[in-house]
Amino acid sequence: MSLLTDLKELLLPRTCPVCGKLLMAGEDVLCAFCAIGLPRYRIMDINDNPLLRMVWDKADVRQATTFLSYNHHSPYHNLIIGIKFHGKSDLAAKLGKWAALEAERQGFWEGVDALVPVPLTRWRRWKRGYNQAEMLARGMSEVTGLPVVNLIRRTKNRKPQSRLKGEARRKNAEGIYQASVPDEWRGKHLVIVDDVMTTGATLGSCALALHCADETATICIFPLTYAG
Ligand SMILES: [Zn+2]
Repeated sequence: MSLLTDLKELLLPRTCPVCGKLLMAGEDVLCAFCAIGLPRYRIMDINDNPLLRMVWDKADVRQATTFLSYNHHSPYHNLIIGIKFHGKSDLAAKLGKWAALEAERQGFWEGVDALVPVPLTRWRRWKRGYNQAEMLARGMSEVTGLPVVNLIRRTKNRKPQSRLKGEARRKNAEGIYQASVPDEWRGKHLVIVDDVMTTGATLGSCALALHCADETATICIFPLTYAG
């Protein structure tokens, strides 16, 4: 450990984003207790699972996987709060890395050409300083070596999806996303990356937007967490 790291830790002690305890030497991002207890969502089949069934009526999505179960009553919800609202872009990249390693064991990365983050509005991106979905994708890229390409954009400033439920959420997501696929990215196998999947409205709309821009694309989805 360098002197600079020592000084940084002395002045700004690192805490576990889940339980808030001080991190001990050797603990990386999460304390050992919280790291062991990560609520993994175990995908048995990347070709047939609840995530895919959530989007099948919205768009042609080939495969789906996820890393963690999402439950906003669980202390692990602090991970999502951290990457979305507390500027923890490093945490997002780290979670993306862990998620990618898990997906590697499922054979999810075979034939994939690129990672495509779900976009934020320009205003939200500016306010937050980063797009958490892009940071997750960058962490995944560290494991897979795949490029991160921003092919989708968010066109309208509508209500954040997290404040809406059911049908309202689906309607709100429709038409928000547009994609443009340059020639070099046509006919590719693309994985859309997001932080949370609940109804599948956002990922379904993004997949539809990509298919409208390039009907020859093979599209898969990878939310970090799934509320199912
Ligand atoms: Zn902890």
